[in-house]
Amino acid sequence: MALAVAAPANLAAKVGDAPRQFRPPGWRPRAARKAEADARRASAWKRGYDATWYEFRDAWIREHPLCCECEAGGLSVAAEHVDHVIPFDGVDDPLRLDPENVQSLCRPCHSRKTAGELGWSGPARAEPKPAGVPPRWIPRGPRPRGT
Ligand SMILES: [Zn+2]
Repeated sequence: MALAVAAPANLAAKVGDAPRQFRPPGWRPRAARKAEADARRASAWKRGYDATWYEFRDAWIREHPLCCECEAGGLSVAAEHVDHVIPFDGVDDPLRLDPENVQSLCRPCHSRKTAGELGWSGPARAEPKPAGVPPRWIPRGPRPRGT
């Protein structure tokens, strides 16, 4: 015989609800942040990602289909992005279509590199943390007893 156990009324209302998520002050959805960032800069086309670039990019990735960062680590991962080793500045920059300045990368490797270039992720992990920077979490000390 199966026992039917009813959840207490205060818990039953929460069954099926999405768990509450922590949102720090100033948090905005990703789409809002992206729209804001896009409004601050010129369109991809104007920044140099035009038809000529996509033609160059497609030909490059056909010839170099594997992520070179992963390959250096002994992995064979399909490349999805063509990365500029040295970021270019505008359509007229010769670095934009220079075969010596591009490499095939998978999405995670490209995100990691771009984040490092734009300063989103702080110093690279290999670098030691500067002195005086507190850890991200504060270790909890012993709990007070008897309270
Ligand atoms: Zn990779």
